[in-house]
Amino acid sequence: MKVVVVVGGVGGARFLQGVKHALGLPSVGSAQGAAESPHEIVAIVNTGDDVWLHGLRICPDLDTCMYTLGGGIDTGRGWGRTGETWTVKDELAAYDAGSDWFGLGDKDIATHLVRTRMLRAGYPLSAVTEALCARWRPGVRLLPMSDDRVETHVVVDEPDSGERRAIHFQEWWIRHQAKLAAHSIVPVGAEEATAAPGVLDAIAGADAVLLAPSNPVVSVGTVLSVPGVRTALVKTGARIVGVSPIVNDRPVRGMADACLTAIGVATTAEAVGRHYGSRRHSAEGLLDGWLVHTGDPAALPGAVPDVDVRAVPLLMSDVDATAGMARAAFSLAGVSVE
Ligand code: GDP
Ligand code: CA
Repeated sequence: MKVVVVVGGVGGARFLQGVKHALGLPSVGSAQGAAESPHEIVAIVNTGDDVWLHGLRICPDLDTCMYTLGGGIDTGRGWGRTGETWTVKDELAAYDAGSDWFGLGDKDIATHLVRTRMLRAGYPLSAVTEALCARWRPGVRLLPMSDDRVETHVVVDEPDSGERRAIHFQEWWIRHQAKLAAHSIVPVGAEEATAAPGVLDAIAGADAVLLAPSNPVVSVGTVLSVPGVRTALVKTGARIVGVSPIVNDRPVRGMADACLTAIGVATTAEAVGRHYGSRRHSAEGLLDGWLVHTGDPAALPGAVPDVDVRAVPLLMSDVDATAGMARAAFSLAGVSVE
């Protein structure tokens, strides 16, 4: 079976662990198991969070997926390397070198150094990612959504001057903790971008497509902004099932509510399901199935029209619970994973 999962960072990476487990693969590591498995998992990863800092190209969502699935993640933080140290960050701060709000760990910097060197040598991000994954063996094919530079920017009013300005998503998210009201969120460069090699083919050839419980705006939404991706999804013969990141009318972690507010979507599983839309209902709609948390009113008849909505526990408290979510998604997608 070929499974495509559209993902961002922490929510996407954890969900991928459950997908692997549900397909009989170890949730962490084992490219070997993946090679022997009859199943192939392709993750299409958001790169709109990517940023240049101190001359380094940083790809937070790709790295979160790679470290999580490869066993190198700091599980408490959810991002960055386990056993991390911060010497370089402290030294940069001593130089007053700027961007000190960004968590740049020493071990993590090695990844950024290798990536940046390869990019400067002319390799596309997809090839760089494959090379980095040769170390981490995530057991999942991690494809950046695009090899082209796409960066999510957020239009805000400067707190001091009141001037309206577009800032990089990372500055808004980390430095300002998404507390500055966002007038709009724009994936800069997306219009001219093309999907990375393998992305559209993976969607076309999939047996099931899952939208991870990732941020609907700045993770899944950014992937969808790459020309061709939405059309490939609309056309694929596979059923598409989304998993709600909103539980009890709140994001389970992070500030997705601030992103949803910026695009005029309420922070409910029902509103996000309607935002993704029904494949049967409209030409642009994506969902055949929508998984919501137990007891969520989005599962009431007609709440998300023309989408099969099912309510199951959606908290990724451990890999078994997450695998249960993945199995429910496969069941809604009409594929058997036994
Ligand atoms: P980021 O790029 O690191 O912000 O991560 P993603 O975009 O992949 O995922 C962020 C989303 O994951 C947030 O909106 C959370 O609500 C969602 N999330 C995190 N943990 C859980 C969980 O246990 N269950 C569900 N349903 N969603 C979760
Ligand atoms: Ca992200």
